[in-house]
Amino acid sequence: MSSIRPLQAAAIELVALSKQFASGPPAVDNIDLLVASGSYCCLLGPSGCGKSTTLRMIAGHELASSGDILLENRNITHLPAAARGTAMMFQSFALFPHLSALDNVAFSLKMKGVAQVQRHARARDLLERVSMGHLAERLPGELSGGQQQRVALARALITQPRVLLLDEPLSALDPFLRIQMRAELKRWQKELGLTFIHVTHSQEEAMALADTMVVMNRGAIEQVGSPREVFNRPASEFVARFMGGHNVLDTPGGKIGVRSDLMQIRPADGPLSGAEQGLPAIVIDVQYQGTHVLLGLQRSGSALPADSTAELSVMLSETRFAEHAYTPGEAVRLSWAADAAHSLQSSPARA
Ligand code: ATP
Repeated sequence: MSSIRPLQAAAIELVALSKQFASGPPAVDNIDLLVASGSYCCLLGPSGCGKSTTLRMIAGHELASSGDILLENRNITHLPAAARGTAMMFQSFALFPHLSALDNVAFSLKMKGVAQVQRHARARDLLERVSMGHLAERLPGELSGGQQQRVALARALITQPRVLLLDEPLSALDPFLRIQMRAELKRWQKELGLTFIHVTHSQEEAMALADTMVVMNRGAIEQVGSPREVFNRPASEFVARFMGGHNVLDTPGGKIGVRSDLMQIRPADGPLSGAEQGLPAIVIDVQYQGTHVLLGLQRSGSALPADSTAELSVMLSETRFAEHAYTPGEAVRLSWAADAAHSLQSSPARA
């Protein structure tokens, strides 16, 4: 009997994949992952968690120490990068500064010995697709960051990859352009119907782009899920803390997570309804953030941490804050509805 497969075909399958460098703990430690065909997958995690090494192993720029990499059921673990059916787009776009946009895009076809007429025709076609046809003769230095990104995308697509690998592709852009290009990346991915695997350390970027988020920690996968699943139900303490916007609380039943915007707060002498639980705390900072106000708090009686970051947070709408403007030093009671709390595995979670 065949094993159960997901309904959507896997573009990439990682099986017990590991990378051990000459020294230190494994950079990637026995990970299994299915990336659905035509999906946008973001590998997310703090610096050093192994996300770039994972991407580089898929690309063939790094050899796997053990395990397998399958692309549409073909084992590509030991194939050279150019024979895998993947293409990579880098952080700095890595465009050749002395070549025009057109020649940058056509470069890999030149390496394959394709005649100039054909390779330029293909490159022009791709530049048109990313709305860059009119700037084909410009050098990279004469293009804006966003335009360079489009050229880099066209250059990656000329090899007709099945899977596009993107290593922090937006991090060289200023914040405004980053959000604009993020929307373009998502649109291109949908229009092309390609599988994108995108490495980022930005929670916000991953949530905005991904169909599937893969949260990594110390070479292992902590959680795989849609952005909504990962944000609403972080599987572990690590994921709750890394995603932010959550409180991690120790209760007699174990560790729980409660979203900051689902915490309720009252002045210390306020009433608690029967279904709620209460926790005495002191407000330590109040940050106005436009549509809401973020309160940092400390449990009553606990020492202030040396870095003075708040232990707990509560996000209030402007309207709620207008009803009672909490101030630093104020004694409060925190509560949360039972269904706002969910249990967390301690970290690091290992399958
Ligand atoms: P960042 O966001 O900082 O790029 P990352 O999650 O992509 O981090 P990796 O670059 O995959 O992390 O690195 C994972 C671990 O492997 C780190 O501890 C790193 O120091 C180590 N590492 C990466 N490349 C090498 C190398 N060539 N030789 C030795 N160790 C390496």
